[in-house]
Amino acid sequence: MAALDFKEIPEAHLGGGLQDTFELFARDFLTLLGYEILEGPSRGADGGKDLIAVERRRGVGGETVVRWLVSCKHKAHSGASVNPADESNIRDRVEANGCNGFVGFYSTLPSSGLSDAIAGLSTKVETQIFDRERIESYLLKGAEGLHVAKRYFPKSMTAWMGENPKPAKIFSTHPCLTCHHCGKDLLNPVPAGIIVIWQRRDIDGKKHVDTVYWCCKGNCDRRLGESQRGKGLIDGWEDIPDVAIPLVFAKWVMVTLNEFQAGDTYSPLAFDRLKEFILSIYPYVARHPTESEIERMEGLMRIPAALGGLGY
Ligand SMILES: [Zn+2]
Repeated sequence: MAALDFKEIPEAHLGGGLQDTFELFARDFLTLLGYEILEGPSRGADGGKDLIAVERRRGVGGETVVRWLVSCKHKAHSGASVNPADESNIRDRVEANGCNGFVGFYSTLPSSGLSDAIAGLSTKVETQIFDRERIESYLLKGAEGLHVAKRYFPKSMTAWMGENPKPAKIFSTHPCLTCHHCGKDLLNPVPAGIIVIWQRRDIDGKKHVDTVYWCCKGNCDRRLGESQRGKGLIDGWEDIPDVAIPLVFAKWVMVTLNEFQAGDTYSPLAFDRLKEFILSIYPYVARHPTESEIERMEGLMRIPAALGGLGY
């Protein structure tokens, strides 16, 4: 299900010298990806404007500059795909503008005829297509992309943010949990992955937690699991997005406290990891503090013993 409705971007102005919003969006998007945008040289068929994007590739032989001709086609309002008639003479246009590559920037999808035509060019010029799905996946991947998305898709983003709540600003830095296998940030842009707990039961039935870690589902989970086998431990796990649900979080913390009261124990490493995990998830279930609460906190922090110093 697509999150962004490209119809939020108005249709291109027919004629006139005004900048079209879809082209401004293309500039901001490509700038986000690291391209440098030069002035657009010409108008293509159907009024779509061409831009030139410069990519600087650094390699062992120094810097290579690649000039991309960017063709913007905004057909979301009709829903039609971009077809070969919309993109005539691609190779001539690329060469006439002194470029080495072609970028199709589309608010719908390329037709199969156009996809074939572009694929056929790839031995002569470099090509890449950003269609609505690819654009969306880049925008929703991180904070900078979300910032651009909010500017051009305010309604879609209000709905999306409601379904993908952002953490409350509790600590000075954004919460972060990195996969213990591949290092991926499991909390950005939205919580993902699992927390895994390895434990053994003593003869008296008491639980001893040996290791706690968090990781991506699938391969990372399997690889980390292999390193724990043969130690006589059994594993349990929870989905991190589930633990970030306020009521589940409260329940999960209660269960853990009850287990401590019942005499279960944690290794020093497992206990440190448990605290780190709880503090990292906490902003997802908390609200932003008010201004007066921030002032009160500053006052409390100056009193060494207050709130146990908050030194966990
Ligand atoms: Zn991973």
